[in-house]
Amino acid sequence: MDIFLYIIIFIMGTLFGSFYTLAIYRIPNKIDITHTHSFCPNCHHKLGFFELIPVWSYILLGGKCKECKQKIRPRYLIIEVLSGIVLVLIAKGFNISYSNLQIKTLIELGFLILYLSGIVIIAGIDLEKRKIERNVIYYAIGILVLYIIYLCIVDKTNIYRYIMYLSITLILLIIDTLILKKKANTSYALSILILLLIMVVFTGEAVAILTVIMTLLIIALYILLNKIKTYKSKVKITDKEINKKLNIGFYLAMSNIIMLIYVIYIFL
Ligand SMILES: [Zn+2]
Repeated sequence: MDIFLYIIIFIMGTLFGSFYTLAIYRIPNKIDITHTHSFCPNCHHKLGFFELIPVWSYILLGGKCKECKQKIRPRYLIIEVLSGIVLVLIAKGFNISYSNLQIKTLIELGFLILYLSGIVIIAGIDLEKRKIERNVIYYAIGILVLYIIYLCIVDKTNIYRYIMYLSITLILLIIDTLILKKKANTSYALSILILLLIMVVFTGEAVAILTVIMTLLIIALYILLNKIKTYKSKVKITDKEINKKLNIGFYLAMSNIIMLIYVIYIFL
């Protein structure tokens, strides 16, 4: 029965989700993401095996650290469950079943998961620190290079499209590193542009356009709500302050995932 396959896929998704929460916390704090043992950020108690199981550990521990009873943020549970759901939706969109397990589909799905992992981590870090983490951008570009190599072996027809986008991304990165290094604001904008280019490559032009439209709508709504809030509270919040709290990378990534699933279900 395929239901068991999808339960396994869901559990895999929650494991990915568990890794995302770890990466989102550790990468900006410069903690090693693979070797350091998982620990409670409050009392540094090392997590045992059962405390590492996604979703269940949260429920069993009642959302608290076993040692210091510090509340674990529900965000961890939400990211784990959502990752499970998204992976199930995408696998279903790719028509994965016991009778339809083709290597080519699995490889494509693998690349998509590697890409999505990158943008989820970028989104999480942007939401926390309002910063597009450069190391994760490099990771995504690395995946893109691997994908181009894969296409070279399997299907050379649309490889030029990828190489073109890769070249533009690399040029923007060089401009950013060499010229704009000290101007934080321009650098954020440019990082968003680089992120968008990576999205175009992995999810296609149509999904990318829908992503941009959805992101612009979210930003417009965000600004509107903030204007109403300022108007009501009579405490002046300047446009600059509103812009500074605008996590464009986060909105872009979330819109991209939603639009990707939407397009998979509507057109495939
Ligand atoms: Zn603790």
